[in-house]
Amino acid sequence: MAHILVVDDDPDIVELVSLKLRAGGHEVTVAGSGEAARDVLASRRDVDLAVVDHMMPGMTGVDLVRALRAEGSQLRILMLTARSQERDLENGFTAGVDDYMTKPFSPRELAARVGAMLARR
Ligand SMILES: [Mg+2]
Repeated sequence: MAHILVVDDDPDIVELVSLKLRAGGHEVTVAGSGEAARDVLASRRDVDLAVVDHMMPGMTGVDLVRALRAEGSQLRILMLTARSQERDLENGFTAGVDDYMTKPFSPRELAARVGAMLARR
């Protein structure tokens, strides 16, 4: 299926999301920080989509997305965050995310959104 990078500093979220996506047949790589995610993306060119938290120590998810888009990355990105204010959502989309979900979240909805994003290109 697809290769998905899950970026979150919360190991419970990483496990929940990874289990759901692997159950859907996807290969999953995990990163506990924005910096670690950049390292993965620099070495693995086959990542199809990233699920990215916003609030992480060091580089935030929005920082990560902004940096990737500034480099011309066309990676599909779904932001998964506890930040649910309209301005947070706007900041995410302005930075370059393709979809946005707030925690607490439904793993089934996440998998459905990931599937829809993967089907488009
Ligand atoms: Mg976090």
